[in-house]
Amino acid sequence: MKQQWMKEKELNNLQFRYFKSLVKHAYNTVPYYHNKFRKIGIKPKDIKSLKDIKNIPILYKEDVLNNYSDFISKDKQYEWMLSKKRFFSEVTSGSSGKQFTTIFDLRAYDYLSIIHLRALIAAGYRPHNKIAYYWYKPSEKKPHNFFGFMRTDYISCKLSLTEQIALLSNLKPEFINYFSSSIYSIARIIDNKELKKIQPKAIITHGEVLSKNMRKVIEDKFNCKVFDHYASNEFNKIAWECNKHSGYHINTDSLIVECLHNKEQVSSGELGNLVITALTNYFFPLIRYDIGDKGILSNEKCSCGRGLSLLKDIKGCSEDFVILPDKQLADPKEIIDILTTIEEIKRFNLIQKTRKKINVNVVLEKNFLDSVIEITKERLSNLFSNQLEIKVIPVDEIKKGARGKIKLVKSLVKK
Ligand SMILES: [Zn+2]
Repeated sequence: MKQQWMKEKELNNLQFRYFKSLVKHAYNTVPYYHNKFRKIGIKPKDIKSLKDIKNIPILYKEDVLNNYSDFISKDKQYEWMLSKKRFFSEVTSGSSGKQFTTIFDLRAYDYLSIIHLRALIAAGYRPHNKIAYYWYKPSEKKPHNFFGFMRTDYISCKLSLTEQIALLSNLKPEFINYFSSSIYSIARIIDNKELKKIQPKAIITHGEVLSKNMRKVIEDKFNCKVFDHYASNEFNKIAWECNKHSGYHINTDSLIVECLHNKEQVSSGELGNLVITALTNYFFPLIRYDIGDKGILSNEKCSCGRGLSLLKDIKGCSEDFVILPDKQLADPKEIIDILTTIEEIKRFNLIQKTRKKINVNVVLEKNFLDSVIEITKERLSNLFSNQLEIKVIPVDEIKKGARGKIKLVKSLVKK
């Protein structure tokens, strides 16, 4: 908890110490890294500063999928934990069906849980508060929940929006932790009678991109602040907003987050691919893993005083950026902002089918005007510099993924 207030320089030193021991551990006990490092001639003693990270090759999902068992540490304690099933595991999310299970040693997972708690506390949460989680797994109460500590209710993603609203007004949670598009959809349809019953202190969004306008709609409706969190199943919590909302504080005491273009570091403020190293999970080390998301790092300091550095913005999955015929990429958040500012559109998803074709599925208000379809086309056309053929299709519902997420913007075109 205290580490977040350390000075940037102290945190850099801490990161370096963690990184150096991680490389040593990986070299000595993890077959994939042992072979890789030997092949390219890296020895643990060659790591003399954080800058030496650039000498380690970037790791892609395919590398992990093709060499899965070689990523598990052969250290005796981890072999014992594996045989006794004493670990926490999480299957990576992925729409392409290519998934692997990340294994966390329980100490590393406890550390990550504390880091998660500090992000909640930064949003005003206190352990006696009641929190509602929108989640794909069945609810499970832990012993401390029964003593009024970290009271958590799980809301299944299988419920309809109306059922979720009924459950929220019944539970009256003080904090709501939801996938961004789901709480946005609720904000669009909830009525004042139900709103009066809920009145949360804050809403935490995660799991999907949150655009400026989505945030505004949720905040205006629920009359509280939204705190966006960035996480992944490979790394758990990566970055989160404090009450200054000047970016996302990176958990630099458990991760190294790099932002790269063509494998080179981009300058602060520039868009790049996020490449992450988990510093504390020795069971299944992921070093310089390309997580498949795009983001922007910032070198500004947050006025809250935390030393944890900032991600200025997270733009979502690299594969899902709409690519224009002139090879420019369209920012998914700008697309979402256009679609969420058209009042008649309750829910939507946009799919780029080919290099020239876009389909936009929209759930519309009952008495919508025909002109709304033309307006949608026109505004998107402007954003895409009239380079794409756009089809707007009214539908009854937008199908959610297995884990309750909706890809608001999806591209099927290979980049
Ligand atoms: Zn801050």
